[in-house]
Amino acid sequence: MANLPIIQPDNPILRKRAHKVTSFDAKFQKLIDDMVETLEKAPGVGLAAPQVAVSLRVFIARLPDDEQSKQEYGENAGVLFVFANPEFVKTSKSMVEGVEGCLSIPGWVGTVDRHEEVVIRGQDRHGKPIKMKAKGWLARVFQHEADHLDGRLYIDIAKDVWQPDDEEDQPADEMNAEKRPE
Ligand SMILES: [Zn+2]
Repeated sequence: MANLPIIQPDNPILRKRAHKVTSFDAKFQKLIDDMVETLEKAPGVGLAAPQVAVSLRVFIARLPDDEQSKQEYGENAGVLFVFANPEFVKTSKSMVEGVEGCLSIPGWVGTVDRHEEVVIRGQDRHGKPIKMKAKGWLARVFQHEADHLDGRLYIDIAKDVWQPDDEEDQPADEMNAEKRPE
């Protein structure tokens, strides 16, 4: 496995409509393995192939599986989702507002409206058809990652974008302080 470099919007691959996955061969398996390793080392919950400069319609997602996440996401916490050639067969009318970041746009976040619930269909890493319902944060992650496959970034649809300043980073520091041995 290899940790792949994550490209930023100055690279035109990020803005292209990605190609359909047609071969689930050894090369594709290596790409998925590399994407999993890349996501493990990055501060994110999802990664689309165009972000590692591969113009293919596939993304991976994995929500954290700490205790709080398990309560929040239930059985979806910590599960690795791989969707090749994804499409939304159903999207809820109700939209929810949330704050998103993107590994390709480090240092920035934005407020984005997403469908609260989606039904997504696609293929797993071996080409087997899969279909599932997702809501809340997972539905948001799927929509963000699927957008990447069409060359769309959250900054295109965000109501506002900003760079979190040091003050907003303080809770993390406080958490670290709590963990300090007495
Ligand atoms: Zn992204």
